[in-house]
Amino acid sequence: MLEVSRLNAWYGAAQALFEVSLRVGPGELVVLEGLNGAGKSTLLQSLIGLGPRVQGSVVLQGRSISDWPAHARAQLGLGFVPEDRRLFAELTVLENLLVAARAPTAHGQKTHSTEQQLNQVFALFPALKPMQKRRALEMSGGEQQMLSIARTLMTAPSMLLLDEPCEGIAPLLVESIRDALLQLKSQGMSLLVAEQNTLLAAHADRVITLVAGQTGASPAFLTP
Ligand code: ATP
Repeated sequence: MLEVSRLNAWYGAAQALFEVSLRVGPGELVVLEGLNGAGKSTLLQSLIGLGPRVQGSVVLQGRSISDWPAHARAQLGLGFVPEDRRLFAELTVLENLLVAARAPTAHGQKTHSTEQQLNQVFALFPALKPMQKRRALEMSGGEQQMLSIARTLMTAPSMLLLDEPCEGIAPLLVESIRDALLQLKSQGMSLLVAEQNTLLAAHADRVITLVAGQTGASPAFLTP
């Protein structure tokens, strides 16, 4: 489903990713772990086409998307939940969801009605249903994170990239978010999740460790 080969990325002259390769199959959960500054966000942003300058191969659903703009990657089915959530703070829960529902879906046409999509995200995150009229700025961090994931799901992705979805969130809501992501996986969604806290790692098909922009580093790599 997603094949990344020998991906390199640069911010100006500074290289942030070095020959990164990974694969996420249909219905697989792959966790990307690494310390602050290891390159997790850079990798996810490179995959959605909003990152720094990149070189290398990115193949999604058999199509080479390395040169595609971000919106075309989203139309092909790549959904992204950013670390900072990027919700419309003044809009209500329902409005945030409906804004995303207007976006084109995976194959340029809707397979489900907006109402069906809303029912699906409320089934996944029941806590959001009674909050539909609440503005995003009036929600807790964990509730906002649920809304951010739900909003991305309204674009009908086949693969979800999430940047630290459980970071800084109250334990009870962390459980809800983890369970929702595992439910999505069981429904066939492919997931690539960056995290530092190993919450999802125990359930992952593979865990990839990034060290200073590289994968597969041996302990010797860490020794100066
Ligand atoms: P964190 O968990 O702190 O977000 P991360 O693993 O996601 O860390 P990145 O944010 O991808 O790491 O950072 C990887 C490297 O790229 C770091 O050295 C960082 O300083 C650098 N970097 C990230 N964003 C930029 C930017 N916009 N301009 C220049 N350098 C950047």
